[in-house]
Amino acid sequence: DTRFANQYAIQWFPGHMAKTLRMMEQEIQHVDASLVLLDARIPLSSLNPEIERITARKPKLYALNKADLADPAVTEEWIRYFHEADAGCVAISAKQKGGANAVEAAIEKELSGLLARRQNRGMAGAKTQVMLCGIPNVGKSTFINTFAGSARAKAADRPGVTKGKQWVSTEKFDLLDMPGVLWKKFDSKTIASNLAFIGSIKDDILDVEELVMNLLDEVRRNYPDLVAQRYKLDAETLALPPYELMEAIGRKRGLLVRGGEVNTERCAVMLVDEFRACKWGRISLERPPQRDDMTDFAEED
Ligand code: GDP
Repeated sequence: DTRFANQYAIQWFPGHMAKTLRMMEQEIQHVDASLVLLDARIPLSSLNPEIERITARKPKLYALNKADLADPAVTEEWIRYFHEADAGCVAISAKQKGGANAVEAAIEKELSGLLARRQNRGMAGAKTQVMLCGIPNVGKSTFINTFAGSARAKAADRPGVTKGKQWVSTEKFDLLDMPGVLWKKFDSKTIASNLAFIGSIKDDILDVEELVMNLLDEVRRNYPDLVAQRYKLDAETLALPPYELMEAIGRKRGLLVRGGEVNTERCAVMLVDEFRACKWGRISLERPPQRDDMTDFAEED
């Protein structure tokens, strides 16, 4: 179903994203490395091919952010997957203090060759310049705040708030914050859905009911117990077609309109909010592909 992807390709790639990509192409030439934030719940769907292209020629570290929301066992699998492809990767929760430290240590490890060369050239004191990038809402502002230990970057609950360009420094690093950027055309409906589930595509251009039906359908396949427990559903109800399942949950929650019908729109908004707030539990929406069909996201040059 390419209609879905095409439809959004037109609507949600605004001019400022094209501008961001041009800015990144400029800036990458001047930094030592890049730090790409991915969402731990959807590492591949949140891997922007445009960012991959731009950052390909410099050392790079992936940080799977929001690991506190993801299934820890699956996150472990992802880290193994990235490492097997020779890509540096750490799991972090930008909201927690430890997140920044973990990344600092990992960047140093990733860049050890570069840092050693600098030391040899008597440039040991020079700060390492790192470009921070990722899709909208992945947690860049939050990471910057934790990393720099200041309130310089303001985190927002809605995508698309980080704008412009800013440097943030620590003792060892200069971090260049880039605005969040999506890409023009998704390869699959799954990617588009995954990005929508976690809130990286603005909800106001989406059909929230359709979004939630897809989400319920997806999550109950891998985490049936979590959905059942959260909404106190018996096995029979959990197996209903998605729309009826959503209605059943709405009825349980008393989200009714006059006449006793379920207000499915309110129900959908409630469900997606609760999912994003981790009320369903820690859920990963994507698992590593089998080794045979590994993509070459970590292209060496
Ligand atoms: P940006 O658009 O990439 O700058 O993303 P923000 O830093 O504004 O973060 C978007 C939302 O994700 C905010 O509501 C943050 O509080 C939340 N967030 C960021 N990092 C984490 C994390 O590690 N764990 C959790 N649970 N939430 C996070």
